[in-house]
Amino acid sequence: MPEKYDAIIIGSGSNGISAAIRLQQKGLKTAIYEQASTPGGATRTQELTLPGYKHDVGSAILPMGVASPFLGKLPLHEHGLEWIYPEIAYAHPFSDGTAYACYQNLYETASQFGEDEKAYLNIFEPLVKNWDKIGGDLLGPLGIPDYPLDFMKFGLKAIPSSKMLVNHYFKNEKTKTFFYGSAAHSTLPLTNIASASFGLVLTTTAHKYGWPFPKGGAGKFTEALLGYYKSIGGELHLNTFVEDVRDIPNAYAYLFDLTPKQLLNIKGLNFSSLYRKRMDAYNYGAGVFKLDWALSEPIPFTSEKCRKAGTVHIGFSTDEIEISEKGIHEKNMTSKPYVLVAQHTPFDDSRAPEGKHTAWAYCHVPNGSTEDFTEAIEKQIEKAAPGFKDTILAKSFMNTHQLQEFDPNLVGGDINGGKQDITQLFTRPIAKINPYSTPNPRVYICSSSTPPGGGVHGMCGYHAAGAALKDHFKELMKK
Ligand SMILES: Cc1cc2nc3c(=O)[nH]c(=O)nc-3n(C[C@H](O)[C@H](O)[C@H](O)COP(=O)(O)OP(=O)(O)OC[C@H]3O[C@@H](n4cnc5c(N)ncnc54)[C@H](O)[C@@H]3O)c2cc1C
Repeated sequence: MPEKYDAIIIGSGSNGISAAIRLQQKGLKTAIYEQASTPGGATRTQELTLPGYKHDVGSAILPMGVASPFLGKLPLHEHGLEWIYPEIAYAHPFSDGTAYACYQNLYETASQFGEDEKAYLNIFEPLVKNWDKIGGDLLGPLGIPDYPLDFMKFGLKAIPSSKMLVNHYFKNEKTKTFFYGSAAHSTLPLTNIASASFGLVLTTTAHKYGWPFPKGGAGKFTEALLGYYKSIGGELHLNTFVEDVRDIPNAYAYLFDLTPKQLLNIKGLNFSSLYRKRMDAYNYGAGVFKLDWALSEPIPFTSEKCRKAGTVHIGFSTDEIEISEKGIHEKNMTSKPYVLVAQHTPFDDSRAPEGKHTAWAYCHVPNGSTEDFTEAIEKQIEKAAPGFKDTILAKSFMNTHQLQEFDPNLVGGDINGGKQDITQLFTRPIAKINPYSTPNPRVYICSSSTPPGGGVHGMCGYHAAGAALKDHFKELMKK
């Protein structure tokens, strides 16, 4: 009997939709089943504070939406997506009121660093130049790279810890702190091997593409992805929590946009006990504490560079950021956390009532923490932007439990679908030639718990769909 669908995708996060699009593009009959009443997983926009103030509940700045070799090529503008590029991708304020900016222009950026200018160019000039060669391999599973020499050169810089990298290249504390700001996105201690790789990749994308965000909210990105998916014949079913694979229609392939813990709870998958044991050993990373504000005016950063940036990294010295990011893993949180701030409304007036503003921020916290970090985060911002607290009209916070309620993939508040350390970065969820497949030949994993991990790039979904195409629809792979 023919199956009702060729493939069913469970979960409508950016990876689930990407997997569905790749399969649907090949002419297959696909459907997405999503438990929530709104699609998008951690890429959704809601009025969290006051009517008319639109907040990105999860992802907010989407450089990988343009840098991704898959998403970057989709005709999303035809489905309402408009990118906004702040003049400065990210800025990093210091306690003396000055700041460093990451401009898209590599040389303008480097020119701020005085005696570290040359070292900055030594790091980033080759990466920006060779991104087209190495980017695809970095955003996929472990394998033989297309350009082994360029990939190896990247690896030599990326494998050390952030601390080793900054001490090797830079002389000034400010330049080191600036690099830490992007490397700390890893959610790893800055002394961990390979933590530098996050700063290298994120900053390279800032120079190569800028750090844009969708006009109107990150949810507009999901809307555009789904608009395109439906235009090529895809189906979306909301409000369907999949507990047992036998409850959804038959298909040749099922692609789960879920993390290992959730997948193991799905009934009817017939996984071997060995596979279950290995998946059970998968490590989740630190969580986040998330804050959103409705504001009477933009954040009054002392430095103009911070006012012109879409993202602001706050951590006033290398020591401060190191202590913060080490503390989350030792369950010993500092009162001065490293804070990531995103501000959209200075560049996008469609997200708040006329003349009003919003801001988005989080700090890393121990996985599963229910502690309230509102005061600590606001204090950090206030230091870089005196008067900030007076601009607050309303606020909303989400601890790790509330984030997981919002999206069950955010296990313990982990926003990357699992720890991204050297042991799990490329070999997630377990070390395997094809990390997207499972012992059940019809079942695949397409979430950020597979390579290349967290972020709105869709590449986990793209590669998982590739694996399903190869196994079940070989002829179509040739097209
Ligand atoms: C606070 C926060 C800030 C972030 N900031 C950024 C950022 O600025 N830039 C960036 O690139 N990335 C950011 N991220 C990370 C990014 O959002 C994630 O890496 C990305 O969303 C992962 O996509 P995914 O498709 O793997 O999973 P998700 O987006 O989590 O989607 C999984 C989907 O599966 C559904 N689901 C789960 N279980 C079931 C079930 N049993 N049945 C049916 N459906 C189910 C969920 O409801 C959800 O819709 C952030 C994340 C958070 C939470």
